[in-house]
Amino acid sequence: MPEDDRDKEKPRVKWIPRSRDADKPAALPGIHRYASFTNLSDRMTTPALNRAVMVGIGAAVALDVLRPIALGMFDAAYCYECRACYATLENCPASITFQAELTVACRTMDYRRFINNRGLLCIRCGNCNGFCVLHLDLAGIFGKMGLATARAVRAGKVPFDVLERALYEGLIGREYIDELYEWYRSRGGRRLA
Ligand code: SF4
Ligand code: SF4
Repeated sequence: MPEDDRDKEKPRVKWIPRSRDADKPAALPGIHRYASFTNLSDRMTTPALNRAVMVGIGAAVALDVLRPIALGMFDAAYCYECRACYATLENCPASITFQAELTVACRTMDYRRFINNRGLLCIRCGNCNGFCVLHLDLAGIFGKMGLATARAVRAGKVPFDVLERALYEGLIGREYIDELYEWYRSRGGRRLA
């Protein structure tokens, strides 16, 4: 068959504007709707790149779960940041007002965030446990993170200025102050007035 005839036999695909396509989700008039996960033609043009991004996201989520597990703080992974624990208020003897910030810092192993939110002042009394809607053992989680933070400071994983600020603003509890101040001075830190 000649090539011209074959071209004539090809089925013609009629292009339908998105707004008039009954198979596409409806949107308000004048609003262009993107449905990236339901419409194949809207997906990334490079499937390999798409997969790499998905693997990256999966690895980041897995890391979020594995790191606290490794340090015995698995419970922190359950926190869904509802912030109900902020109701602890004056029941916290260490005047910690943002317990959820500490829980998230434990989950992500964010030492700076833990220190800046007074985590090293926690005395593990457990008063905040009763305010957690998931009944997480916050005192136990904060205690383990406190020990991990002190280790991280000694290993040089915490920026020096973060430690210095914490020392000068009284953000380090008596359980940790001696060893951390000694480490600070041994690295050339100023003498506390
Ligand atoms: S366990 Fe720590 S954060 Fe919770 S109330 Fe006691 S001192 Fe405050
Ligand atoms: S109440 Fe519990 S679940 Fe909610 S933010 Fe606080 S620690 Fe997380």
